[in-house]
Amino acid sequence: MHECARCSGSVGDAFRFCPWCAEPQRLKLVEFFRGRSSEEDRALRVSRYLHDQLDERHVRFSIWSEARVEGAVSLDDDEAERLGRFLLDTAPPPRNPLRDLLDRVTAIRF
Ligand SMILES: [Zn+2]
Repeated sequence: MHECARCSGSVGDAFRFCPWCAEPQRLKLVEFFRGRSSEEDRALRVSRYLHDQLDERHVRFSIWSEARVEGAVSLDDDEAERLGRFLLDTAPPPRNPLRDLLDRVTAIRF
């Protein structure tokens, strides 16, 4: 437990935001993404830095192999948002196994 810097409320250490005033409790949010099966010993770590000053905010991408960093780059929030849009806009449509089966069955000529 720690004290929220904004409202002084008591906040559990696992919380990312204060449950009383919604103040971010961490200045850095981190997520790991596994490499493909051929690169399963590598991972992409994405860290979002949440500073109060807008010009300090950024997203850092680092490539990890086992326990060390092989390379990293930081993007401003607007460029990171553009990356997010690129990934969403170019994602293939979700597979629908039932539709695939129906298409195969209806393609059979008796
Ligand atoms: Zn608070």
